[in-house]
Amino acid sequence: MHELSMAQDLLKILGEYQEELGSGRQIKEVHLKVGKFTSVVPETLGFCYELLVQNTSFAGTRLIIEEIPLVIRCRRCLRQKNLETPRFHCPDCSSEDVEMVAGGEMIIDFIQVEEAEKEGMTQDEDNSFKTALGGQ
Ligand SMILES: [Zn+2]
Repeated sequence: MHELSMAQDLLKILGEYQEELGSGRQIKEVHLKVGKFTSVVPETLGFCYELLVQNTSFAGTRLIIEEIPLVIRCRRCLRQKNLETPRFHCPDCSSEDVEMVAGGEMIIDFIQVEEAEKEGMTQDEDNSFKTALGGQ
């Protein structure tokens, strides 16, 4: 199952990230962006994630999944289009010389970390990073 291995990858990355953070700082939320052309079902991924984090230190970490549309760019008329369904010709000029700009990726958009009892500190900005999941 595709989503299960994705969730496993995600947990591995969270584990490494947590190690870098050290103890005392808890990962609060993980924000994922999943392209419409990835064949990943967000609900299934969320379900697999919930299953895997049970009884781990990430049990309280929320996974938030945002779907991103499929975007293609036509090399002939140079227009860029958001598509609801995957198709690979230009809606305007019917050219098949198109490239996918977005929608095939799955990335960790950002990871929100809770600071442990530190006064004067709220959310910090430098915890955001982007990484791609799965073999692209
Ligand atoms: Zn075109």
